[in-house]
Amino acid sequence: MDCILCGVRDKDPLVPNLTIHESELSIVSVNLFPYNPGHIIIFPKRHIIAYEELTKEEAEDIHLLTQKTLSILKQKWAVQGFNLGYNLGKNSGGSIPHIHQHIVPRFPNEAGFLDVFANTRVVIYEPFGMQEQLKQFWKEF
Ligand SMILES: [Zn+2]
Repeated sequence: MDCILCGVRDKDPLVPNLTIHESELSIVSVNLFPYNPGHIIIFPKRHIIAYEELTKEEAEDIHLLTQKTLSILKQKWAVQGFNLGYNLGKNSGGSIPHIHQHIVPRFPNEAGFLDVFANTRVVIYEPFGMQEQLKQFWKEF
């Protein structure tokens, strides 16, 4: 398979599916390799590599889904801090070319922003349990 996020979109049985919500243009998913509990990615369904390729509609959709995700995590898990961002292109720390925005909840006494985005830290937890809980929150919200 060429792209793991296109595999998620196409519900390829070989790709673990951690989707929380799907809109017409985008997908909200638990990150399979989380930096932190609640680490979520939001990506356009269209396979694009450069941020400049995002259409206005896709950018707005991702923006609205990001707002909803932040509200849910603040209200349901009392998360007080987040890092939001994209790793774009060579040397950025990005591992999947299909662009995706990270939402990384932050908790007291952890590594800093650079550690998170340089991909130096991985927290072990159970992403499928988290997906179930977040899907439920998403429906209720
Ligand atoms: Zn793709």
